Amino acid sequence: MKKIVAATKNPGKLKEIISALKELPAEIVSLADFENIPDAIEDGKTFEENALIKAKFFAEKTGCACLADDSGLEVDALGGKPGVLSARFAGFHADDGTNNQKLLDELEKIGVKESPARYRCALCFYDTDGNKIETFGTVEGTIKIFPKGTGGFGYDPYFYINESKTMAELTPDEKDKISHRGEALRKIVPALKGRLL
Ligand code: IMP
Repeated sequence: MKKIVAATKNPGKLKEIISALKELPAEIVSLADFENIPDAIEDGKTFEENALIKAKFFAEKTGCACLADDSGLEVDALGGKPGVLSARFAGFHADDGTNNQKLLDELEKIGVKESPARYRCALCFYDTDGNKIETFGTVEGTIKIFPKGTGGFGYDPYFYINESKTMAELTPDEKDKISHRGEALRKIVPALKGRLL
């Protein structure tokens, strides 16, 4: 059975990927199953570029086909920021708390209480023969400065999927059904099936 390494050490993300790819004849492992794998330098200007950088880098380092995603938030009132810098919006050692505070600070600076926004995800499968498959997912919403909910992660408490509900108020299953990553993962399954069967 083909081994695919998911380019993550995050157990939550790994679970989501395993569940999305469960019908494929492949063993999904993560970077945590390998020793001494360095970090990839994610210096792409787009989610697509970063997903490819990671998938190629970890396929070469592990010798396995690799599935990598890159995702983030785009806020219209901030000209699309934080974008590819979503994970480190508040700096190199940023976490969800400092990133969310930076988001609030930036909105306050321009006197905006809510703005159209979206999460985007680029997914890239890179095989040991150098072939790649790419898919994308987007979920539209509104960033508001009033947080709600305790689920999800990152900017979810501020990301409203409708007038009154945030992404952080969804169960993991509900989120997977509508999320940017869920969409990109669902789209890659038929293409991977063609490659693996
Ligand atoms: P990465 O693609 O795992 O590096 O994620 C990039 C960053 O985008 C995360 O650290 C979060 O700040 C943000 N992000 C990506 N997806 C989500 C999501 O589903 N909810 C909240 N924040 C997200």
